[in-house]
Amino acid sequence: MYRSHTCGELRIEHIGTKVTLAGWMQRSRDLGGMTFIDLRDRYGITQLAFNMEVNAALCEQARKLGREFVIQVEGEVIERSSKNKNIPTGEIEINVTNLVVLNAAKLPPFTIEDDTDGGDELRMQYRYLDLRRNPVLEKLRLRNRVALETRKYLDSKEFLDVETPVLIKSTPEGARDFVVPSRMNEGQFYALPQSPQTFKQLLMVSGFDRYYQIVKCFRDEDLRADRQPEFTQIDCEMAFVEQNDILEMFEGLIKHLFETVRGVKFEGAFPRMTYAEAMERYGSDKPDIRFGMEFVDLTALAQQNDFVVFNSAEAVLAINAEGCSEYTRKQLDELTEWVKRPQIGAKGLVYIKCNTDGTFKSSVDKFYSEADLKAMAERANAKPGDLLLLLSGDLAKTRKQLNELRLHLASQLGLRDPNVFKPLWVLDFPLLEWDEESGRYHAMHHPFTSPKPEDMHLIDTDPGKVRANAYDLAMNGVELGGGSIRIHDRALQSRMFDLLGFSKEEAQAQFGFLMSAFEYGAPPHGGLAFGLDRLVATMGGSESIRDYIAFPKNNSGRDTMIDAPSPLNEAQLKELGLKLN
Ligand code: ASP
Repeated sequence: MYRSHTCGELRIEHIGTKVTLAGWMQRSRDLGGMTFIDLRDRYGITQLAFNMEVNAALCEQARKLGREFVIQVEGEVIERSSKNKNIPTGEIEINVTNLVVLNAAKLPPFTIEDDTDGGDELRMQYRYLDLRRNPVLEKLRLRNRVALETRKYLDSKEFLDVETPVLIKSTPEGARDFVVPSRMNEGQFYALPQSPQTFKQLLMVSGFDRYYQIVKCFRDEDLRADRQPEFTQIDCEMAFVEQNDILEMFEGLIKHLFETVRGVKFEGAFPRMTYAEAMERYGSDKPDIRFGMEFVDLTALAQQNDFVVFNSAEAVLAINAEGCSEYTRKQLDELTEWVKRPQIGAKGLVYIKCNTDGTFKSSVDKFYSEADLKAMAERANAKPGDLLLLLSGDLAKTRKQLNELRLHLASQLGLRDPNVFKPLWVLDFPLLEWDEESGRYHAMHHPFTSPKPEDMHLIDTDPGKVRANAYDLAMNGVELGGGSIRIHDRALQSRMFDLLGFSKEEAQAQFGFLMSAFEYGAPPHGGLAFGLDRLVATMGGSESIRDYIAFPKNNSGRDTMIDAPSPLNEAQLKELGLKLN
């Protein structure tokens, strides 16, 4: 037996007990007559005491040990003279009578404590050491709890956990595929699934009725704080359902998770908003509704004078930063520089200060009278003391830019409290999205999403206006997940492939299996998937999903610890029939 207790277990009531503990040396303090060691394992930290007078040899031995040595000790639990109220084992210590070094350790490249001196890169390179740190461990504990409670909830609702293959054929979900060459079929490739989309639909054709899987998905996209090349979804599908059945079922899941894991209770149903409304009010399909600062359309008012910038714009939109009329020149310049950065791409920023004395001050005073500015302020419901910020240009771009500014300002003003959670269903996404680059329509969600029957008449004349039975769940400005009611009719699916520019042959070659399945009795069905990494990060109050993944990749998609990706040797390439140029 390596240990009788863990390092997080012993309390005042254990005094007098003889124990054996094993763990890592977090730190040691040598006070001359006494040496103390903090012994750490996954469960906590226990203080070990060595007394020079009682056992000089043992004390000498303890003093020589370095950080992160793996040791085993025997001893008796005693009451501490100076107690540490900050840790659960802080009232006791172990009077050590025997010590065995199980394994020596090199000095770690950073300190393995809650506050570490290790930078991001170093911590990722030695992630196995970083994972010894409590704050990191806590995040993975949260993830474990969320996954466990997800299974409990879905199991209680009759969902079957079914594994689907990882070596598949491409499923278009808007990203590039990762591909895997096949040795046995030279010149041919598998694709890693962007999601199990077609498989879960086939399971509905098979009569499985309710499916779920906590599953890895792979997308070869540019990375950001909330994106990894491989990520995990809670992937679900249901047969014989309408959109509302799905929203209710999964609202139930989210409520269950927040309540059991975070102790947060949501009152009533989650609010719902159409995509069109979300874009108009927030310029985003995943609005953060923890705060107001909604968009105000000032186009008509702003275009009554001779200010060419506004007059030539498709839209002039504003947000009201309440109580910010005292912003200094410097602060306003900073905001202007911020929106002009290439990532945002605005040409400039116009402000209207609604001074507390009832006067107005604006960067475009030259073109607008006091009365004009007042009219705009009134339109925006701005009060004395408020600050209006205006962007103008192409409608879609301006919305996007103003959304960024709105979030940036709200962060600055402390309006995005990570302990406040505001879910929002966004409904009726457009079916299609025009892609400038390829000059054709793409499926906004994926090609299996059904159009709204009432919009079907537009499909030939104005396909961009057709709405889909597609929905997302947004929370705090993050898209937690999304899904749709699917097409289950072969003819309509085939029409959809046409619309997306697939030739009959291409559609047959890529999706023949799905189209034939639809000929053998496909039930109406629909589903959705949540991004587990994002969900857990949001619940943990963080914007970065990396911390919630045990072994994440960096921004260039590299795992610096195992050093991947890496080249293949000649023999491997030959076996796969591959030549590099
Ligand atoms: N497969 C979709 C996705 O990954 C989710 C769904 O439609 O169920 O976004």
